[in-house]
Amino acid sequence: MSFQDKILFNPIGTISSPYKEKFGIPRQPGLVTAARATLTLLPPYNQPEIVRGLEGFSHVWLIFVFHGTQAQGWKPTVRPPRLGGNARLGVFATRSTFRPNPIGLSVAELCDITIQGNHITLELAGADLLDGTPILDIKPYLPYADALTHASAGFAPDAPSPQQTVVFSAKASLQCAQKQAQYQTDVRLLIEQILSQDPRPSYQHGQQAGRVYAMRLYDFDLRWHYPASGIEVLELADFD
Ligand code: SAM
Repeated sequence: MSFQDKILFNPIGTISSPYKEKFGIPRQPGLVTAARATLTLLPPYNQPEIVRGLEGFSHVWLIFVFHGTQAQGWKPTVRPPRLGGNARLGVFATRSTFRPNPIGLSVAELCDITIQGNHITLELAGADLLDGTPILDIKPYLPYADALTHASAGFAPDAPSPQQTVVFSAKASLQCAQKQAQYQTDVRLLIEQILSQDPRPSYQHGQQAGRVYAMRLYDFDLRWHYPASGIEVLELADFD
């Protein structure tokens, strides 16, 4: 094989997740533990024996394609949102989605494996994946090898950004309760965890008083704004 040969991979599964658009998805996995996603295995990988033994692992690595940004290509340098969008760093020093090979790597909690004939699904928590993400591989997470607590993190801080306080309007509170049964998810906790990360790019911080933000979750538009301090959820509007 020469270095110019293309390497073809087949997706082994696809993700169904509440995140219907890129904006608002947490920047890394594990930050929004209330987010549930389902990985469905595709033929010819949808064979029960392919997941034999996986149930013993609490977490899995997912290797996937950044299909939502793939068409936009890549550049050797990118502006990490963490640095306010000003400084340029080499793409290999970042977790940017715009990479020479648009491949992502995320760890997720493995909550359940369901096998009904050839319909095989993995229930996951905490994934940072767009709905429809193609999965290339699943590997068990090995704490003794994968958890390197002494590692240094370059420009990325050792901890996620400080969390914002999130409050709900009366209307949004009621809507969360109504959606809870529909999605079998703690919708209020999900929203609280997403917004406490403050999805705005950091260059917009402090500039957007009065502006209403929206992101699509499941089949609704989540709308919020920034009052004098913290974040207020305004409503869960029908998607149009
Ligand atoms: N944990 C992964 C990694 O390190 O490879 C992803 C990190 S990347 C900074 C996280 C962002 O990828 C999310 O905030 C979301 O906007 C974006 N994302 C998730 N799934 C995607 C997909 N299928 N296509 C394009 N972008 C995606």
